[in-house]
Amino acid sequence: MAPRGIGFRVGIAAFTCVLLLVSPRGQSGTPQPDAAVEAMVSQVSTDRLVETTTALAGIPTRFSPTSGCATAGAAIYSFLSRLGIAVEYESFRYNSARVPVATAGRNVVASLPGTAVPERVLVLGAHYDSFSNNQFKVAPGADDNASGVAALLEIARILSRRRFALTIRFVAFDAEELGTFGSEHAAGLAKRRLETIAAMLNLDMIGYSAGGNRTLAIVHDRNSRPIARLFVQAASRYRAGVETVERMNVKWARSSDHASFWAAGYPALSIIENNPDNNPHYHHTSDTPDTLDFAFLTAVTRATLAAAATLAGGEQAPTDDRTASLRDRPRPECPRASR
Ligand SMILES: [Zn+2]
Repeated sequence: MAPRGIGFRVGIAAFTCVLLLVSPRGQSGTPQPDAAVEAMVSQVSTDRLVETTTALAGIPTRFSPTSGCATAGAAIYSFLSRLGIAVEYESFRYNSARVPVATAGRNVVASLPGTAVPERVLVLGAHYDSFSNNQFKVAPGADDNASGVAALLEIARILSRRRFALTIRFVAFDAEELGTFGSEHAAGLAKRRLETIAAMLNLDMIGYSAGGNRTLAIVHDRNSRPIARLFVQAASRYRAGVETVERMNVKWARSSDHASFWAAGYPALSIIENNPDNNPHYHHTSDTPDTLDFAFLTAVTRATLAAAATLAGGEQAPTDDRTASLRDRPRPECPRASR
């Protein structure tokens, strides 16, 4: 019997309720777990993550200029619409050395309006286009980046049933693999509109664990260090089941969509497996769902949901910097195209 509820293709209308997030602090100063956030974290479904990752990777290619990418964008649009939140395409044009002609791209953007400070926006993002050694025909991109989109949609499914102090914007970016064009468009638009982006969390390559090493890198720049601290604390506080390591602006994590937000002056994090260069299927036709560790993807989704709910609830990122940069040692650069 087929599973019921919202699949990647089958949805139900979301119900809404007001969520008041409070975070009483323990004697150590560390906020205590919030029961509502705990309940949301417990709703993360491995089956749904498998379903969405498999559906996206089942499209022969999501290389941005192909019809497969448009199919993926439409499926993401449809999924978010069924959650009962406002969704739109943001279209843009770009020129890339990898494509012979000027090309159109489109981000899929859904918004959950904030209740207390709607002008402050938390952006959760993941690119949905893919790349490979045969990108016009076969580019399943399961780890890169069906995994990130699956997490994004699972978090949207759960968070959209509630309301938060801040506005939450879910963005599936196009044309990341050709030069982060989708996120450049989105970050530039936010800047021109003088928007306040409280934080941007970028999910890109979060499903592969080399040799069962389930360590997640939280990559930040100087401006984003407090957000990284909050993420790590939230992952621990809500027992997400993933080990996190903070890294300061490492070169192997620069070429993805968070960097567009850094460039626009906004705090942003790269949420990424540590180290993605360990994935031998990266940018190859062999990047398929059977190579992924879905328990790891589930844990990363839980951690990101916990951090997002905490940030969107209005909790301030910690300012205590005493433990900063203990883990910030740069890794050797691996020159690569965009993740
Ligand atoms: Zn990527």
